[in-house]
Amino acid sequence: MTTCPKCGVEITSLRNHIPVQVYYDVQYNAETDMLDYHHNGWTDPDDDGDYECPECDQILCSDAYVAKKILKGERGGDISGS
Ligand SMILES: [Zn+2]
Repeated sequence: MTTCPKCGVEITSLRNHIPVQVYYDVQYNAETDMLDYHHNGWTDPDDDGDYECPECDQILCSDAYVAKKILKGERGGDISGS
């Protein structure tokens, strides 16, 4: 159990936002006279995204190493951001 360094509420998890680019392959369907959208997507496996507090929604860090330290309660002074 640890507390959020921003709001001070006890937290057991962080919320990880990963940037994802989504696109669709669009084809014309002559049978239905409609466009068919085929979902596609791409995620950068090297980008951890941002880790937010689930209570106050503030970004606490942007890498898994620091996120682990926060959740272990070992967050001495290496939180990124203000
Ligand atoms: Zn918080």
